[in-house]
Amino acid sequence: MSDTPVVAVVGSGPVGATYARLLLEALPDARVVMFEAGPQVTERPGQSVRNITDPDEKARARERSQGPQAGEFRASLGIPAGAVVEGMFTARQGTHLLDFGGEGSAHASNFPAAAAATNVGGQGAHWTCAIPRPAFSEMIDVIPDGEWEDLISTAEGLLHKQSAAFSDSPVGAAIRELLSREFGDELPDGYGVSTLPVAGDPQPDGTMRWAGADTVLGPLLDQGSDTAARFELRDLTLVRHIEHDGAHVRGVVIEDLRTGEQSIVEADAVVVAADAFRSPQLLFASGIRPAPLGRYLTEHHVVISTVALDGDRMADLVSDDELSAELARRAKNPTDPVAAVNRIPFSEPDHPYSAQIMYAETPPFPLPSDHPASGNRWGYVNMGYGVRKFPRVEDGATFSDDEVDYRGLPNFTIDYALDADEEREIEEATALLRRAGSALGTFIAEPRLLPFGSSLHFMGTMRMGTDPAVSVADPYSRVWGFDNLVVGGNALIPTANTMNPTLTSVAIAVRGARHLAEQLAATRAARV
Ligand code: FAD
Repeated sequence: MSDTPVVAVVGSGPVGATYARLLLEALPDARVVMFEAGPQVTERPGQSVRNITDPDEKARARERSQGPQAGEFRASLGIPAGAVVEGMFTARQGTHLLDFGGEGSAHASNFPAAAAATNVGGQGAHWTCAIPRPAFSEMIDVIPDGEWEDLISTAEGLLHKQSAAFSDSPVGAAIRELLSREFGDELPDGYGVSTLPVAGDPQPDGTMRWAGADTVLGPLLDQGSDTAARFELRDLTLVRHIEHDGAHVRGVVIEDLRTGEQSIVEADAVVVAADAFRSPQLLFASGIRPAPLGRYLTEHHVVISTVALDGDRMADLVSDDELSAELARRAKNPTDPVAAVNRIPFSEPDHPYSAQIMYAETPPFPLPSDHPASGNRWGYVNMGYGVRKFPRVEDGATFSDDEVDYRGLPNFTIDYALDADEEREIEEATALLRRAGSALGTFIAEPRLLPFGSSLHFMGTMRMGTDPAVSVADPYSRVWGFDNLVVGGNALIPTANTMNPTLTSVAIAVRGARHLAEQLAATRAARV
C-alpha cells in the first residue's frame, strides 16, 4: 500500500460516483482516480443532459454519449444519421445498442433493445430519475433489515430525493384520483396510487433540475474543496485490464482514447462500476471468471401505452385557471415535457407489478395534425408497467475468448428466454394497463410489450450473495476470492425486480464503500 491509499474507479455513473464521494469523505488522505471511457458532454461533469435547455446543445450531448455507433462511426457502417434500419431497433436518446449490427457488435437477438451510454455520468446523464424503494421480495435478503433503512436513506440523500416533485400539479393529482377510483380497493394500505419519488432539485419556477452523477459527486466537483483536490476524473480513458494475482488487485491498464497510449495505474483497490454488461466483460478480460459472471440476467419487462387525457373527466377535477397555471409552468422548459410522475407500486401477493405514469404536455411521438387527439389541451400520459423476470442461470451474457468487440474486449452473446409464469404476468400487466388507460382517456398507442432489453435496467450479471457458487460478489460487493476488488451497479441486484433499480444500486454501493473505507483504514493502521 502506498503512503496515501489510491482507489481506481472504473465508470463515472451514479454508482462509481457514490464510491468516489464516500471513500474520499471517509479517508482524509486517500485519492480516487475515476476512469470513464466516454467523453464529458456537459459543462459540469456528469450533469443530467435533461437540464440543458438549448435543444441543439442537448441533441449534441446525447449524440456524443452514443459511443462509436454515433456520428462518423455510424456513417462508416453505411447507416445515415437518424435512420432506422430494417431489423435494427434504435436506442433511447443518449444510449447506443449493444447489438448494433456492425462489426464488433455484441450478439443479442433475444435481448435486442439492450443499450448502454458511454459518457461522463453514464446512463445517469440520461435517466428519468425515478427512484422508488424496493419492497417485499424485491428486497435483498443478504443485507440486514436494520441496516437497510440507513443505506437507502443515505442513497436518497446522495441522489437528492424528492418525494413530492410535481405534487402541486393539479393535473397530476387528477390522474391519481382517477386511477385510485379504478384500482384503490384492490391495493394494500401504503401501496396505493401515489407520486413517484424522483432525484433532483425543484426550482423556484416549478421546473426540476434533474440529478446526475454530478449530484452524487457533490463537493468533489467544488474547486477548492478538500475532496476535490484528491479526486481526478479522466474521461475518454478506457480500462482494458485489471492487474491482479488471483486474490489481490494491483491496479488497472488504461488506454487514453485520444492518443491510443496504454499505461498501468497502480491502486490499493479497484471498484468496477461500468454497467451490467461491460463490468463483467472487464472482469472476464482480466481473467477473473467465476462461473456466475454474466449469468442470472434479469430486467423488468415493460408493457407501455400512451393515452390522451379525457377533457370531461379532467375538467371535473381541475379548474380552467388551474390548467392555465400548469401550462404556463410547463412553458418555462419546453424541452423537458414531463410535468408530473405518478405510480402504482409493487406489492405482494396481488399486485407484483409497478406502474409508472408520466404526464406530459406532448406525446412521446409526433401525432398527425388531423388525429382526433392532436393538440389535446389536457395533455397525455405515457405509462408502463414493469413486469418481473426471475433469475435463472441460463439467462445472461457468454463472453468469448475468440472474438473481440469494437473496443477490442471479449465479445459476448446474450441468451434470454421467458417461462410460462413470466409470460402470464406480462398478460396480466397488459390487462391492468388497458384498465388504467381507459380510466384516464383514449389510447393513442395501444398497450404493447416492448422488445426485451428496453427497460435499460439490467440486473443479476454480477449478483451479490452469500454463496460463491451462485454469486459474483459478497454482501460487501467484493468479488469472491479478492480482498480489494469491488463491483457496483444494477448487476449486483439478485432479486426479481419490477422497478427502477438505481436507488437500490446506490444503497448497495454505500455499504460497499463504507466497508472498503474501513478496510483501507485498517490496512494502513496496521502498517504504521
Ligand atoms: P452507468 O450509469 O451505466 O455508468 C457506467 C459507465 O461506465 C459508463 O459511462 C461507461 O461508459 C463506463 N465504462 C464502461 N466500461 C468502461 C471501461 N472499460 N473503462 C472505463 N469506463 C467504462 N434508473 C432508475 O433507477 N430510474 C430511472 O428513472 C431510470 N431511467 C432511465 C432512463 C434512461 C433513458 C436510461 C438510459 C437509463 C435509466 N435508468 C433509470 C438507469 C440508470 O441510468 C442506471 O441504473 C444508472 O445510471 C446505473 O449507474 P452505474 O453507475 O451503475 O452505471
